[in-house]
Amino acid sequence: MSEIKLGIIGGGQLGSMLSNAAQKLNVKTVIYCDDLDAPAKNFCDEFICGKYDEKEKINEFIEKVDIATYEFENIPFETLNEINKTKPVLPKPSINRLIQHRLAEKDFVNKLNLRTTQYASVDKKSDLDSLKDLLPGILKTTTMGYDGKGQYPIKEITEVDALNIDFSKGYILEKLVKLKKEISVIITRFGNNEYEIYEPIENIHEDQILKYSSIPADISENIFKQSKNWAMDIAEELKFIGTLCVEFFIDRNENLFVNEIAPRVHNSGHLTINAYNVSQFENHVRAVCSLKKVSLKKLSNAKMVNLIGSQIEQYRKSNNLGENEFFFDYLKKEIKAKRKMGHITTLIK
Ligand code: ADP
Ligand code: MG
Repeated sequence: MSEIKLGIIGGGQLGSMLSNAAQKLNVKTVIYCDDLDAPAKNFCDEFICGKYDEKEKINEFIEKVDIATYEFENIPFETLNEINKTKPVLPKPSINRLIQHRLAEKDFVNKLNLRTTQYASVDKKSDLDSLKDLLPGILKTTTMGYDGKGQYPIKEITEVDALNIDFSKGYILEKLVKLKKEISVIITRFGNNEYEIYEPIENIHEDQILKYSSIPADISENIFKQSKNWAMDIAEELKFIGTLCVEFFIDRNENLFVNEIAPRVHNSGHLTINAYNVSQFENHVRAVCSLKKVSLKKLSNAKMVNLIGSQIEQYRKSNNLGENEFFFDYLKKEIKAKRKMGHITTLIK
């Protein structure tokens, strides 16, 4: 294949950063997104706007690309499956189907004998009556949630009445973990026992949205090793190709829990652009396009801060950055509360 055309489904900031990485590798990108103003439009070679189940537009996309990947989970399985009949979709559509469903995802992790918080399926309100042991907990939609959307922290069952929840959607109740810390591990798998793995990243959330990520994570040697091993176990079991992120909780007794898996590049890995020789985005493109695997080298410690909502404004106005600071503007048209608008990575010597 002389010139590879990589199709990316989803046009958010992750799609932009994947496109940038692809460009560096001489891989052309075609972004498919349902938003005409998608940020990644500014960074890709070609852009197709269509709904994620729009047959004709999807066919146009299939025609144009050699390989397809995705930058978010909530894509209909039928669409990924249809594309995969003619052009390889990586990671495999079945992996996305498994992981986009919080219950299936947690069952999968437990079958691997890796710890998650206790949880139960909730299909109707009365199911909660027998689940008092899981309180205080968080009621979450089983699908379509992100950045804390579709999540309801509850202490008592009676609180649920006031929330007007539509239980036809399918919910999971998770017991609240008494958090000491949150970390994530990003791994790019190229094939059987062939992978590159980044060191654990420490994450701080505000209002259930990621706010700060940093390396090194302030964790014990044991958690350092265990979290990397668990991420490897998960990637290996899924026979994953590409970049995957495992989000972990550490509780006050130093127990590690898998929170969730993202079958894609991840916000906590933005700092890999500046802190490593190969970013999570470049590694993803390398893996799905069967390009050469390059050994990872860490160049620096780093800290990333997400600019949420109007926090971006001051940075758009002045370019007053230090030499170790890197500002990324996702070029989203509209500033909205709780929307990730950009980020700043600072390298720490
Ligand atoms: P999302 O898909 O929105 O990222 P998560 O399940 O990762 O959903 O939840 C977002 C954040 O909410 C977590 O990173 C954590 O800070 C908090 N949270 C979610 N579930 C739990 C839990 N069971 N115990 C403690 N904190 C939780
Ligand atoms: Mg999460």
